[in-house]
Amino acid sequence: MPLSMEIRGRSFPVDERPRPGRRPIRSPEPKPGLNQPPVHCEWNCEGAPIWAGQHRTRTTSSLPITVLLHAIGALVVHGCESVPVDGVCDHLRVHVVVVGAGVSGLSTARLLLAGGHEVTLVSGDPLRQTTSHLAAAVWFPTAAGPADAVARWSASAYEVLVRAAADGVPGVCMRESLVLYREEADVLPPLPSWAEAVGEVRLARPDELPPGYPHGLRFVVPLVEMPTYLPHLYDSVVHNGAQHVQRRLGALDQALDLRPDVVVNAAGLTAGALAGDNTTFPVRGQILRVVNPGLSLSVRDEHHPGGRAYVHPRTQDCILGGTLEVGVWDTTPDADETAAILKRCADIAPALAGAQLIESIVGLRPGRREIRLEVDESLLAVPVVHNYGHGGSGVTVGWGCAADAAALVDSLADASNE
Ligand SMILES: Cc1cc2nc3c(=O)[nH]c(=O)nc-3n(C[C@H](O)[C@H](O)[C@H](O)COP(=O)(O)OP(=O)(O)OC[C@H]3O[C@@H](n4cnc5c(N)ncnc54)[C@H](O)[C@@H]3O)c2cc1C
Repeated sequence: MPLSMEIRGRSFPVDERPRPGRRPIRSPEPKPGLNQPPVHCEWNCEGAPIWAGQHRTRTTSSLPITVLLHAIGALVVHGCESVPVDGVCDHLRVHVVVVGAGVSGLSTARLLLAGGHEVTLVSGDPLRQTTSHLAAAVWFPTAAGPADAVARWSASAYEVLVRAAADGVPGVCMRESLVLYREEADVLPPLPSWAEAVGEVRLARPDELPPGYPHGLRFVVPLVEMPTYLPHLYDSVVHNGAQHVQRRLGALDQALDLRPDVVVNAAGLTAGALAGDNTTFPVRGQILRVVNPGLSLSVRDEHHPGGRAYVHPRTQDCILGGTLEVGVWDTTPDADETAAILKRCADIAPALAGAQLIESIVGLRPGRREIRLEVDESLLAVPVVHNYGHGGSGVTVGWGCAADAAALVDSLADASNE
């Protein structure tokens, strides 16, 4: 039976996803308890996010997906996190060392655990020092490629986050949003590529536009408060059986003493260096946290003459951004830039005039021309599944990439059983 996943009526063949090689997994030494007979697991064999989109057509009010998934017994609640699963399949259980405990590593680890694998998480930094922790983190594809894969991963992740918001997962909510354009009506750009995943996008009414903006688009997207969500995701991973080793690796082979069958490389900006890949680069982002003057609408102008401008209200504060500086490593906030961000954000959300600054923050997005999501069998004595280079979209594509990374591990496990 041909396998496909359907999102809002569009069918995505699963064989579009990258496939690992068919070589058996090589382990430096057999590890007791690993390479056991196949275990019963509940994650879809293909790893495709089939939970998403099949049962709903759009946005926040789609509680029925949860109800339906419960009804067919396809929703498994592990601890405090609901994880989408579909069907039953048999896998060889393998031991996976996941390097990185940002959103990429944790979401991949979470799906591997749901698939019955043994997971050891390795990370060098506390959660609050990861890039993921400081991210804005609004669903909106930014500075990541390739475009077609990013669209697919983003669409999958959108559905997961919509459901997380409906389920009341801590830190996840749906946010009314407005993208502003300075162009007149006759030169309005075509509907952006992300609009398909979002579903309902409408023209903003004139009374919804700030001064100087003739046009805007209104839509709803997930917003994730990472200081709440990331610890929640971490707890879910540990609660479901992952071991956590705090260790900074100088190279990926320093994880081999943990006796993995597979290593997942999800080390963010450092992942390239760990893998001998010199095509990664930082994309510096300076953002501000201010006291929320009562805003509830996310607003952005990607083409503000002073630089990108975005405003994302959260529960306890409001994130204002921000810069996107390719190749810049400096993590010291720039005072002039702080003032400039405040000014241009007040242009797009006038209620921010005189907003009280809490702090200026700089983060380095893990840049790469294209997200690297593939099996690498040349690096170590065991296969490596790379999942890095998410640029400004790590949250936006996170669950979509994690599903593909987990599927690659499943395929490797299956291949080793042949
Ligand atoms: C200002 C700013 C705003 C952003 N806004 C958004 C947004 O609105 N939406 C969105 O989708 N994305 C946004 N992003 C991008 C997003 O934050 C990143 O794409 C995402 O966090 C990358 O996640 P990651 O898990 O790959 O990496 P990270 O979060 O950086 O995690 C890397 C992990 O690897 C570990 N590690 C690294 N090196 C080693 C080593 N040598 N040994 C052991 N462990 C190691 C670290 O300890 C950490 O646990 C933003 C980024 C910035 C900077």
